Amino acid sequence: MTDRNDELFSHARSVIPGGVNSPVRAYGSVGGTPRFLASARGAYVTDAAGREYVDLVASWGPALLGHAHPEVVAAVQEAAAQGLSFGAPTEGEVRLAELIASRVRAGGLAPVEEVRLVSTGTEATMTAIRLARGVTGRDLLVKFDGNYHGHSDGLLAAAGSGVATLALPGTAGVPAGVAAETLVVPYGDLDAVRAVFAAHGERIAAIIVEAAPANMGVVEPPAGFNAALADIAHAAGALLIVDEVLTGFRVHPAGEWGRQVEAGHAYLPDILTFGKVVGGGMPLAALGGRRDVMEQLAPTGPVYQAGTLSGNPLSVAAGIATLERATPEVYDRLNAAADRVIAALTGALAAEGLAHAIPRVGTLFGLAFRDAAPRDYDEAKAQDQARFTPFFHAMLDAGVHLPPSIFEAWFVTAAHDDAALARIEEALPGAARAAARG
Ligand code: PLP
Repeated sequence: MTDRNDELFSHARSVIPGGVNSPVRAYGSVGGTPRFLASARGAYVTDAAGREYVDLVASWGPALLGHAHPEVVAAVQEAAAQGLSFGAPTEGEVRLAELIASRVRAGGLAPVEEVRLVSTGTEATMTAIRLARGVTGRDLLVKFDGNYHGHSDGLLAAAGSGVATLALPGTAGVPAGVAAETLVVPYGDLDAVRAVFAAHGERIAAIIVEAAPANMGVVEPPAGFNAALADIAHAAGALLIVDEVLTGFRVHPAGEWGRQVEAGHAYLPDILTFGKVVGGGMPLAALGGRRDVMEQLAPTGPVYQAGTLSGNPLSVAAGIATLERATPEVYDRLNAAADRVIAALTGALAAEGLAHAIPRVGTLFGLAFRDAAPRDYDEAKAQDQARFTPFFHAMLDAGVHLPPSIFEAWFVTAAHDDAALARIEEALPGAARAAARG
């Protein structure tokens, strides 16, 4: 039976590559027809055929308060009525920069002294890397296998044949020479990081790391891992870039950095990147860091960076409205919702005797079909991936919209109330049975 989603997907594929504007949306790893969404409110999304689902994608993170939060929407509407874009500084940008800087504080540390607003997480990490290179006068970058930082060339690099060897292009279209500026090491492996610094230390500008990995499934960082990276980088005169695009203002009010500092693993990153929640669902991202580093950006410094729509007033309004409402109570609700989904998920999978792990970082969690939570990308790939397809489709059929890949985190929102959570709980046993059969 075809429905409006099938019609739209078929039509979309004739005018848009693969029918989608970001590959994971095409359901490539789970098969079937992606749901074309028509609207979203609170914990729910509605597809083009008029079917409603409880949503655990949350636009891949931004919808912290729930979709279309009335006060966030009103803030955007008010901003829109004043003009869509000026290409000039605005008061709102100053307010948002201050909000970001004042939230990223813990243990007496305040790593964000200045903020630059951009439009996407990709731009934020790309700029952070250029800045680190400009500050250090060095070219090489260390990144971790399975960490995702957006789609700029140097970050789409695949591990070379040995730990201290330069990377290879991770996709067609990335020049070998660009990939060779990146060193890819296994996540969590401090010895490997020390080895690349021993081999190339004087040429390394920065280490970039996801504050907590959430793009190879959720991986809990080993205790003190990021702090150790800061020590290694700083001892060699390199910078540490902590990518909080996904985790920032989601896992904890002060992001994953704040969560780790409060857990007793204090450290000072040089640059942090933010996205998703910080734009409240509008295109906005940011980088922030030490004043002397940030001041190296143009116009104060020699590192060029710019953007026609940077600091767009509608995006800024959504970001301010979201961060102002991301109160401790919101994180309590997110944690309570995560507790409930995780309990139901564990119960359903255990009842079917399925090997599973549910790694969790603050309010963020994921699912892996293996006995122990993955610690790196190799372990994340070494799971019973095939079980996810029947599980995913059974959830979808039962009215729950999950991220369509086993390597993506599940996102709850503050709008996941009792009714929404109960629908997830009702759907899970059938999905676990489907996974056990498949
Ligand atoms: N960094 C991390 C950790 C991300 O998860 C993402 C996107 O998922 C990005 C960077 C890139 O952000 P964007 O998709 O806004 O370009």
